Amino acid sequence: MGAIVQKDNPVLRQLAEPVPPEEITSTRIQKVIADMKAALADEADGVGLAAPQIGVPLRIFVVSKRAFELAEEEGTPIGKIPEDDLVFIDPEITSCSKKKTAVPEGCLSVRWLYGNTERAEKATIRAYDEHGKQFQRGATGLLAHIFQHEVDHLNGILFIDHAKDIEEMRPEDIEKQ
Ligand code: ZN
Repeated sequence: MGAIVQKDNPVLRQLAEPVPPEEITSTRIQKVIADMKAALADEADGVGLAAPQIGVPLRIFVVSKRAFELAEEEGTPIGKIPEDDLVFIDPEITSCSKKKTAVPEGCLSVRWLYGNTERAEKATIRAYDEHGKQFQRGATGLLAHIFQHEVDHLNGILFIDHAKDIEEMRPEDIEKQ
């Protein structure tokens, strides 16, 4: 821990700036991506991380390989588990299902609160990868929820802004259960 900024930091409330596609392979952006992956790897329960969470107001988020494994355990068809964390730059949710479900959610920047949010069950996202190649990916269940949570971060929104039944659960409480 340490690299991830917490909820009162104003960077989490900014509208993050787009990354010009031609700059994706620059040293500066590659360093941001590497820092994000490292910060995410340090968090045992981390499934996704947006750049503002390490203090960088750019439109980038990373979904950990672990999230895909969890989605598979959840029984969601996800295709192939990626070799590495997946990087989404200038992401745009191009469509999502009208049907919403209540999803239990937490956030690495909102320790240690948890609550239920309403999220679309399915979402399709278009973004650039870390090599500057545009791609599109559809998701259901956990991954679709992660896409929505992370895009919210890029727009200055935290899940506690709209979650219900928010409660604090410290890791030591969870272990006791
Ligand atoms: Zn978050």
